[in-house]
Amino acid sequence: MESWMRAKDIKRLAIMGGTFDPVHYGHLVAAEGARHEFQLDRVIFIPSGRPPHKTSEQITDPVHRLAMVKNAVQSNAHFETSALETESDGVSYTIDTVRKVQELQPSADIYFITGADAVLQILTWKNVEEILSTCTFIAATRPGYALESLEHRLSSLSREYINNIYTMEVPALAISSTDIRNRVFNGKPIKYLLPERVEKFISNSKLYCRED
Ligand code: NAP
Repeated sequence: MESWMRAKDIKRLAIMGGTFDPVHYGHLVAAEGARHEFQLDRVIFIPSGRPPHKTSEQITDPVHRLAMVKNAVQSNAHFETSALETESDGVSYTIDTVRKVQELQPSADIYFITGADAVLQILTWKNVEEILSTCTFIAATRPGYALESLEHRLSSLSREYINNIYTMEVPALAISSTDIRNRVFNGKPIKYLLPERVEKFISNSKLYCRED
């Protein structure tokens, strides 16, 4: 059992949801910023198994993505990882994760941190109203992100739900997983974009590089 599952002292728990292919400093800075701003006791990084909008060919093996996240969160006592999504087969829906977390920590307030671009699509997610009535959302944005498009896109939601979605600008999110994958593929450095342990893991496991 993962340690957050049996903890008795969690009042505010955040799920850090993402593909994390790979995890980088932008994610870590976003999680730490949210922890501080929302006084979160624990931030649980839950890499998605297979998100509904991606095929398995498009993303790295969940075992590798979870291992990288484990390496990345080691130095923060408030951060943990969970295999809730990566260990289950098939498509991972956020509603199933949220229900599971609520069942394990029934008295905690639940937050869900993810990228604003992902939140933009939330109306297409399974059981969106249940998700929004269970969790407070924290949408992390890159600098210069047009927040109006988020408000506009979500305008069909009731005010009660919109008020439950917070945005947080994170300059470090200028770093992106796509850019890191492209850099490795093109033989460019990724040092200082992610923790050294993750960099080593990528190199040792030969992730993202050209086959030759
Ligand atoms: P994505 O489309 O790969 O990412 C969208 C954008 O958000 C990217 O710019 C990404 O940057 C950024 N991002 C992703 N996670 C982040 C995080 N935790 N903090 C800051 N920025 C983040 O989105 P995704 O990663 O597949 O999905 C995000 C979450 O939404 C996951 O937990 C997923 O399971 C959930 N989701 C659920 C459903 C559903 O239940 N139907 C559907 C879609 C997504 P990087 O590429 O640099 O990370």
